[in-house]
Amino acid sequence: MPTLISKEEALARIVAEGGQPACLMCAVLEGRVGGIYTVFEDERVVLMLPRYVRCWGHVAVVPKAHVVTFEECGDELWLHIQSVAFRASRMIESLRSPKRVYNTSTGSNTRELTQTSRHIHVHVIPVDSEEDRPSDVFTWSNGIWVGEHDEWVALRDEYRAWWQRSLTP
Ligand SMILES: [Zn+2]
Repeated sequence: MPTLISKEEALARIVAEGGQPACLMCAVLEGRVGGIYTVFEDERVVLMLPRYVRCWGHVAVVPKAHVVTFEECGDELWLHIQSVAFRASRMIESLRSPKRVYNTSTGSNTRELTQTSRHIHVHVIPVDSEEDRPSDVFTWSNGIWVGEHDEWVALRDEYRAWWQRSLTP
């Protein structure tokens, strides 16, 4: 079973894994801050499992290019990111039957914050409680779920299998 750890423990682990890189998303994509569990990737984006989550089953769509503003991102890349996030939302609905699925870009062109890398990305998050509000999901104050390697692999493989099926007419 995934384990709930405190915000302080999560932040300590992140620093221990990769220090404080200039761009956390670039560091993640380059494997400089521990393992990456990739559900899908093409030449422009990666769909992956973030390894510190408020809701088990959370995925994120990250462009491979280091873009920090929507202007820099441009229409074509943004639409591609959204199209992958849309398919990921269907995947999560189908496999996890959550009450809701949040689709959110929380990035900002300021500085690296926890779960808010400047590098543009979109979170796709299954929400299982009817009582949950965005303020409950987008905080680490109540703890963060982490998995063992085998648990991440099992989740990734379940998602990969759905992704493959969804592409087959
Ligand atoms: Zn970056």
